Amino acid sequence: MLDLLILKWNIRWQVGWAGNDPRWWYTWGMEFDLRIEIGHESTCLAVRPGIIYEVGRLLRALMTDDPAPVALVVTDGHVGPLYGTAVLTSLSRAGFPAFEHRIEPGERSKCLAVLDEVYRSLLDASAGRDAVVVALGGGVVSDLAGFAAATWMRGVRFVICPTTLEADVDASIGGKTAVNLPGGKNLVGAFHQPILVAIDPECLRTLDPRDVRAGMAESIKHALISAEAFLAWHEQRAEQILSLDDAVMSELILRNLRIKAEVVHADAQERIGLRMRLNFGHTLGHAIEACSGFALRHGECVALGMLAACRLSRMMGLLEASVEARVKRLLERIELPTRLTPPIDPDVVLATIRGDKKARGGQVQFVLLEGVGRPAVRADVPERVVREAYESLYR
Ligand code: NAD
Repeated sequence: MLDLLILKWNIRWQVGWAGNDPRWWYTWGMEFDLRIEIGHESTCLAVRPGIIYEVGRLLRALMTDDPAPVALVVTDGHVGPLYGTAVLTSLSRAGFPAFEHRIEPGERSKCLAVLDEVYRSLLDASAGRDAVVVALGGGVVSDLAGFAAATWMRGVRFVICPTTLEADVDASIGGKTAVNLPGGKNLVGAFHQPILVAIDPECLRTLDPRDVRAGMAESIKHALISAEAFLAWHEQRAEQILSLDDAVMSELILRNLRIKAEVVHADAQERIGLRMRLNFGHTLGHAIEACSGFALRHGECVALGMLAACRLSRMMGLLEASVEARVKRLLERIELPTRLTPPIDPDVVLATIRGDKKARGGQVQFVLLEGVGRPAVRADVPERVVREAYESLYR
């Protein structure tokens, strides 16, 4: 028993200074929970409480550079004061010359002007081709910092330390990075896979509970498009989820990562339609989000969009009413909205959907359900059916 403990301790310790060959430590499975290979790119993911203090050591284990290159930590005005020092100290201890760039919190920062400021910080830090950009924050920070990493000197390495549930279960995986233009969301972007995603579920404790619930919408979405068992898992643990039980949240995050990893691995650049399934609830959800002037959280709009998509699926003769009722009950238990108040003019919402960038060849594509775990992408949904399904959210 003692031998085994020492062996385990040795492995963890060696990873810190000599684990330059990812295959070596991966074989032991000690540090990382998951590894995704997309083309020549590889992302290592780890989920555990306190990992925020280990980012430098884990990153050093993944890199052969000697000396360690410049690391720019991009964070925002809420997250930086809470976790910035932990990450910067951990990077410095591991030998990285580490610098911080702080942005204003919120979606408005996902724009070209703020991106330009990140580039200036990279220039000031003398960040070269070997630099690392570390995103510390929610999806806004990781989308912006990821795009900076994808484009700085034609692409440098990228790490994500997500701090919202939305980012833990969705934005941190899949390699989509982007900024918004005045004409629309995520219009300029690139696919760029992070080399490391380090998820600390304890960070959720400082997050506004409304943002935790909003993040849960993506987890329920993953359950609905993947497996009955995962939906039942949510139903059995709704209270533990709301109280942020550490073990339950770690399991929830890992299960979500596996589901998204599988889809992303099969269709990294959204070319064969598989990745489209992840848009369940998003076509109407995005339109509601845009038309509400971003008064609602993204996840809240996705919750409403999922309910409308269930209604659409029923109206198209694909889904049983009992599944729609079940989804509604779960959303209510997680305290996500199931009614749109105040309502938004359906003409405005439908016009926004028509302009949605996912419209192909004049047809809007909807992800519908034929049952739990059985998504179906359809481009033949009549607009009057979409209108009726949308109106069911407030009638
Ligand atoms: P966010 O990044 O705006 O974070 C929400 C708020 O929480 C912010 O005010 C932030 O400062 C604060 N915050 C973050 N972590 C905190 C913590 N631990 N403690 C206290 N406060 C904290 O919002 P989000 O929901 O994480 O991300 C939304 C963005 O993610 C959108 O722009 C969306 O387009 C993008 N997104 C991208 C992908 C992708 O695949 N790239 C997927 C989903 C969403």
